Amino acid sequence: MAGKNYYDLLGVKRDASEREIKQAYRRLARKYHPDVNPGDNSAEAKFKEINEAYEIISDKEKRQKYDKYGDKWQYADQFEQAKQQQSQYRDFNPGGGASYQFTGGDFGDLDGIFAEILGGGRTRTSHRRAQPQRGQDLESPVEVTLEEAYQGTTRTISLQVPEPCPTCRGSGRIQNLPCSTCRGAGMTSSIKRLEVKIPPGVDSGSRVRIAGKGQPGYGGASGDLYLKISVKPHALFERRGDNLHVDVAVPLTVAVLGGEIQVPTPKGKLALKIPEETQNGRVFRLAEQGMPHLGRATRGDILARVNVTLPVKLSEKERELFRRLGEIRPA
Ligand SMILES: [Zn+2]
Repeated sequence: MAGKNYYDLLGVKRDASEREIKQAYRRLARKYHPDVNPGDNSAEAKFKEINEAYEIISDKEKRQKYDKYGDKWQYADQFEQAKQQQSQYRDFNPGGGASYQFTGGDFGDLDGIFAEILGGGRTRTSHRRAQPQRGQDLESPVEVTLEEAYQGTTRTISLQVPEPCPTCRGSGRIQNLPCSTCRGAGMTSSIKRLEVKIPPGVDSGSRVRIAGKGQPGYGGASGDLYLKISVKPHALFERRGDNLHVDVAVPLTVAVLGGEIQVPTPKGKLALKIPEETQNGRVFRLAEQGMPHLGRATRGDILARVNVTLPVKLSEKERELFRRLGEIRPA
């Protein structure tokens, strides 16, 4: 949702009343409802956006957070907590020069910093110590090819991690004016890059958990990162569960007399014996040659469907042979 303005989406002013918002939503929802626009993808997308906007703006608490933090409103609680921690940290580190190093290193370091903050707070500013809190889980979409899903792969993903504003050091103000970097919020976010492993066998809709790589906790453990997988469609293979369906061309003579053909698999070709008098559309099962079952050592199958190809550009001799065949086996 980055960059989208919920008020603009609903076509209302920022100070619109609850009633105005509800009216605007109803009008737009009627206009873009999928039942009114069957098959219109852009209307459906718009309908989803409107609903998302309404869900936030119609909720008093969420709307307040959104007004303050914009599209990072979901981090509002974390921002507020981190700000509080930040001020504690300054309390016992008056120099302030080495405060909060959010960049670089691992989230694990962050936990250390927070533990340090809490530890320091215990002796010096115990009256403001916050309860240890586990960090939020994060979700990141990842698109992979079928071959990558077959073999497993790695991705470097970028995560938006909230951090105290470096300009105002989290106070939100500079010489009593709102800080221009964070617009007074005291928090900004940085992009953190992380290399993650995607196991063999993932499918569209798979959620891969990367433990401890979510939002840092405040005294508590970090949240987890979930990779939301989508697998791109493949030109040859149709995936159904962990089975792969593929059409294979079989020349007429091979189908009639028997022979051998090559079947594609995600890791190369496999020879398949075709018995004589094989009919068009017959399906051969290549056991355990399909997609790995996620988290297990076994695999699905490949189902190869025979597509008999008839000869074209016949020579005079071939034409003669077919003519004779036709005489022997009349239709
Ligand atoms: Zn700032």
